[in-house]
Amino acid sequence: MDVYNVLKTYFGYEKFRMGQEKLVDSIVNGNDALGIMPTGGGKSLCYQLPAIILEGITIVISPLIALMKDQVDSLKEMGVPGAYINSTMEQNELITRINEIRENRYKILYVAPERLNTSYFKDLIKDIKVSFVAIDEAHCISQWGHDFRPSYLEIPKFIDSLNTRPVVGAFTATATKEIVHEIKHLINLNNPVESIIGFDRPNLFYEVIKTSNKFSYLVEYLNSNFQEDAGIIYCATRKTVESLVKKLGDQGFSVIGYHGGMDSDERQQNQDDFIFNRARIIVATNAFGMGIDKPDVRFVLHYNMPKNMEAYYQEAGRAGRDGEKSNCILLYSPSDVVKQKLIIQNENLTHEREELIYKNLQYLVDYCHTNDCLRNSILTYFGEVIENSKCNNCGNCLDQSEMVDITEESQKILSCIYRTNQRFGLTTVIQVLRGSKNKKLIQFELYKVSTYGIMADYSEIAVREITMTLVSKGYIHITADKFPILKLTSKAKEVLRNEVKVYHKKHLIERKGQISKREESKKKDVNENYDANLFTELKELRYSIAKERNIPPFMIFHDSTLKGMAAHLPKDKEELLTISGVGLKKYESYGEAFISVIEDYCGKK
Ligand code: ADP
Repeated sequence: MDVYNVLKTYFGYEKFRMGQEKLVDSIVNGNDALGIMPTGGGKSLCYQLPAIILEGITIVISPLIALMKDQVDSLKEMGVPGAYINSTMEQNELITRINEIRENRYKILYVAPERLNTSYFKDLIKDIKVSFVAIDEAHCISQWGHDFRPSYLEIPKFIDSLNTRPVVGAFTATATKEIVHEIKHLINLNNPVESIIGFDRPNLFYEVIKTSNKFSYLVEYLNSNFQEDAGIIYCATRKTVESLVKKLGDQGFSVIGYHGGMDSDERQQNQDDFIFNRARIIVATNAFGMGIDKPDVRFVLHYNMPKNMEAYYQEAGRAGRDGEKSNCILLYSPSDVVKQKLIIQNENLTHEREELIYKNLQYLVDYCHTNDCLRNSILTYFGEVIENSKCNNCGNCLDQSEMVDITEESQKILSCIYRTNQRFGLTTVIQVLRGSKNKKLIQFELYKVSTYGIMADYSEIAVREITMTLVSKGYIHITADKFPILKLTSKAKEVLRNEVKVYHKKHLIERKGQISKREESKKKDVNENYDANLFTELKELRYSIAKERNIPPFMIFHDSTLKGMAAHLPKDKEELLTISGVGLKKYESYGEAFISVIEDYCGKK
């Protein structure tokens, strides 16, 4: 079978996603491959599809033990025989599996890296034909990255120990130069074909919300966006998780919690409830997410700001793996920055390390304060070349609110920093500007400086907002210390001398006012041409089949596939097979049930 045939028959897709075809072709033709694609880019297909075509077995090395069963179940739904070997298996289960592998019953075998060089595994592998070794999460081999796993260093030894060198493929979403170099070098890839797809996730909408009442914003958001779809709410602490679960539950939302302090059964139960769509919203600490590949998470809302852009992008990136429109909302409050700083201070780090961590934190703070395109801010962080100044799919690009000239306010703030000899932090500078009677100001005689009280008619929040905007625009530098100090950069002169103007969104800096909430939280549901009522009926059918078979609903069909059905109303096998996501095996298992619901629905209309 050729690759397109396999793509349609097993995966149900007509087209490859960007970068996939090149890798698949390379592997099927016996060449090594390196795939660097963002989360949701479709890496699994790049090794699963060749595995179906190639003779013998493909070994997929993955550190995500929790995901192996899901991957194998998904393959089974597509008609591909797969198995896994990891530490969660009982001894007799392991023996049975090994015997089945010897009998060539499987095309794909998932293995945790720790198993590779064990004697039983080596013994098994010497008798079977391994055509291809795929290394998932390949960045785990690099000591530069934050996910380093020593067991990954065992992989080259394992590959060398095979009778014939198989094709080797490495896949990751992490693309820093050092890590890519280490992957190629340590795994010893042989002149690999490379597919490096940018970091951008065009289906994700980014937004930063500054609100004085996070909870009421959250409730309003949940009531007006993706009312029935799954979402993750990330919080900084276990306590916040618990209180939010309670408060949202009281308001009637289908919600569960997840954090490291729960016992493992409860955690597993809650995770399953979320994945199987039994609970719609999961409120969690950052303990949740690694190894979760639920494709239909429609929003990831950060109730607190995480520690840096990398953590944010990883967590937010759990939205929309299926390519459907999804939201990534970050609720910002200055107190979250203070909390993060406290955590850093308590970590007992070397000065250098501490400085780096502060710098990384500051980047995310700047992200929260920029008026420019949020997507570009993220992509710049990851070293991407920016093509357009606006993405038109983030809160800032879509924000129509009036921009006002804040040059004069900016000059007041910059000169206050100058007049106080660049020796104080944000809070003190704001107090001086607003003419506070705080003891510290008296002690340092700051009430005598000429800028004392010159912004007395602005709210504390407004002065803070403008100051942080000046930081994000590079006019002020915040030192990376325990007690960060505001300093002027060389660029600050441009503002002080009236050579450049500074602008800001009006509604965020109204005098004496609170930071106002957006007039309405925009509804960003997918707006395609499908019948929403039929879509609901198809989802109900999918849910009941999933329940009966004890698999997550997305393993049957993705939302996008159900929407395709609700748009094209297929009447028979031939028409159903034209819908993206319907392969032959899935048609055989479920086709008739879905056609019958569509038929009934059309008959009723
Ligand atoms: P990654 O491992 O890169 O994060 P996955 O392999 O989990 O991404 O793929 C993300 C989603 O994209 C999956 O739900 C998968 O079914 C879907 N997908 C992969 N390839 C295609 C394709 N060619 N067309 C449509 N959907 C695809």
